Amino acid sequence: MAESKTKFQIEVKRAPEPGRSFRAALFDFDGTLSLIRSGWQDVMTPYFYEELAKVADPAKESKEEIMRVVRDFIDQITGKQTIYQCMRLADEIGARGGRPLEPLAYKKEYLRRLQIHTKDRIDRLTSGAAAPDEYVVPGARRFLQILRDAGVRLYLASGTDEVDVKREAELLQLTSYFDGGIYGAQDDYKRFSKAMVIEQIIETNRLDGAELVGFGDGYVEIENVRAIGGYAVGMATLEAKPGGIDEWKRARLLQAGADAIAPDYGDPEALFEFIHPCK
Ligand SMILES: [Mg+2]
Repeated sequence: MAESKTKFQIEVKRAPEPGRSFRAALFDFDGTLSLIRSGWQDVMTPYFYEELAKVADPAKESKEEIMRVVRDFIDQITGKQTIYQCMRLADEIGARGGRPLEPLAYKKEYLRRLQIHTKDRIDRLTSGAAAPDEYVVPGARRFLQILRDAGVRLYLASGTDEVDVKREAELLQLTSYFDGGIYGAQDDYKRFSKAMVIEQIIETNRLDGAELVGFGDGYVEIENVRAIGGYAVGMATLEAKPGGIDEWKRARLLQAGADAIAPDYGDPEALFEFIHPCK
């Protein structure tokens, strides 16, 4: 399969066919548009490790092995609701003979720890000390505007609790771009999944799967978009230093089946031309 790196730094596995056009676009939030929760893995990973190491038998599993187990399952489930990662932690604790808490208890403790991590960013945005674009992936705002101007309907779906996604989208002044709606995790976790949002997009707009383009930095959204015949752009944003490629994300996104990989939206016009080959 042809691979190329264009000047605007998109790595292409499968280019959109000439004449193909997209009528709807689905965006993930954390890591794809927002940098507010950047570093959440550095909060979840040590916490889950701590819980699992309490019950693991050191004669059977080294610290490194436990850490690898934790990293792998967090990564695989990224993009789904947080509760699924907590359910998996509970299963892993149970599998090692421990007595796990309810998954919701792990989620609450994780969110408590994450809040310490993100509080300063939220405070700065709320007070106006930080401009919204400080915490938006480079070029994203302009890219959303270009898509809207072209009549593409925009949707946002996140595994973060819906009330938090909506609040953070508001703080970043991104809400108004999403004429299709903003969706996130529900208390009753069975009421939400990215696959359900995609189904709804297809139905409401009477779309063919091929008319949907998705942008995300997690496994789940890439797989879900590909599953219905959509075009999936993996966003391998280096969150600590936007502009570069996060090689770990890149490898995982390609494994999930991404059609193309971009570091950010640094050249939004070129990115738009790329996904609109008919123009
Ligand atoms: Mg994400």
